[in-house]
Amino acid sequence: MNQNSITSIRSVRFSLCIMVSVSIFLVTTLVGCGSTLATPPLDGKMRIVTTTTLLYDVVTFIGGENAAVISLMGPGVDPHLYQASAGDVIRMQDADIIVYNGLHLEGKMGDIFAALARVGRDIICIEDGIEEGVLLADEDNPEIHDPHIWFDVSIWMQAAEHVAMRLAEIDEENAAYYIANLNAYLTSLAELDQYIKNRVAEVPQDQRVLVTAHDAFRYFGVAYGFEVMGLQGISTDAEAGTADVSNLAALIAERRLKAIFIETSVPARNIEALQAAVRARGFAVSVGGELYSDSLGDPSSGHDTYVLTFKANIDAIVDALK
Ligand SMILES: [Zn+2]
Repeated sequence: MNQNSITSIRSVRFSLCIMVSVSIFLVTTLVGCGSTLATPPLDGKMRIVTTTTLLYDVVTFIGGENAAVISLMGPGVDPHLYQASAGDVIRMQDADIIVYNGLHLEGKMGDIFAALARVGRDIICIEDGIEEGVLLADEDNPEIHDPHIWFDVSIWMQAAEHVAMRLAEIDEENAAYYIANLNAYLTSLAELDQYIKNRVAEVPQDQRVLVTAHDAFRYFGVAYGFEVMGLQGISTDAEAGTADVSNLAALIAERRLKAIFIETSVPARNIEALQAAVRARGFAVSVGGELYSDSLGDPSSGHDTYVLTFKANIDAIVDALK
């Protein structure tokens, strides 16, 4: 039996295991009380579970003092490959509201969200709040959209609006509070957007090329005028081939790009291999630091909000390429 078959059997077993776990937890709750309040809310707050730290940021801001929010994935965790643990399933089961990105970002968790929706959990799927016209198609699979919507601040504003509207629907009594928090969040995003544009203006036009470990930055490229190249596609679920490394190395050497970037949620080895391949062509490209791609920074980094994470990224990009 080859490795692929073993892997797929393991993943089927794992999926079945998760589905059984979901069913057991859901059945227990349904028998218990049949409401979303399987576990009492904390001090009257709604229990909200988000999948990623990026969603944690927007939900914490807009939910404010009415929300007790936890993120299943911590800083630096790769959402494309993330498998929910039994503990995660319990946390989602105990939550009043579950918030996820959609657009196949949480590629291994779709069945769980569907099961939770079927038993009446309030689910906020960010994908539902984004105008289809602004979504980018995956170059290799045009029927799939790129999930990395947070790297265009104007799209993240739509995500924030969707969160606020859904919280206002679910908890009507406090609708005005969520809208006020939304407005404050949008103001901070508008300031961030201007900051990014000001910094990008420091980079010469021919150096506005962003080479990273995977294709997380295409929305960034469209919004802020960068050519963007990732060694892997829009998911990290496929390895970069040697042909990809070699083609990209040739391009970097030819265009004399000053820097390429590693990402916090993807192992550095691919970008290091790319740097070595460029060097073999007689051109020294530097590694321009580590970008946050699919998560916020951890609290000790000082970059643990959406705004601070994006500022850290744009500062690293501009300082290395200008
Ligand atoms: Zn990604």
